[in-house]
Amino acid sequence: MSVTRPTAAAAPPRLEAASCSACGHLFLPKGPLCPRCWSSDLTTRELCGQGEVATFTVYRQQYHRDFPPPYVIALIALREGPRMISNVVGCAPESVRVGMPVRVRFEPRGERVLPLFEPAGSAAATTPSNPGEPA
Ligand SMILES: [Zn+2]
Repeated sequence: MSVTRPTAAAAPPRLEAASCSACGHLFLPKGPLCPRCWSSDLTTRELCGQGEVATFTVYRQQYHRDFPPPYVIALIALREGPRMISNVVGCAPESVRVGMPVRVRFEPRGERVLPLFEPAGSAAATTPSNPGEPA
């Protein structure tokens, strides 16, 4: 999935989706045809980077050396409509909830910049404590 611009030059990374000129549908990942009307008349539209967690899971086993557990894999429902898979970072995995507001946060990983998501607004300040853990 290509949702960010390369780190080259001084252009800041942007979250973008494909936009169908025929029917107005926004979608990710980008592809050669609109999945709604099959038009190939596509452009790119910048997204606001706000959304909410539609569903998620917490990985507790290490599958890749660059991703030490625990970490959150989430389906993010972006405000403009498209959904994308990413990580929720900047909070304890146990505090992630379905419906939690999140915003994009770009993090460099080698040659790429990844669009990750962190708690937005009051969700960051009202993280419930885990009753099974000491305070
Ligand atoms: Zn379309």
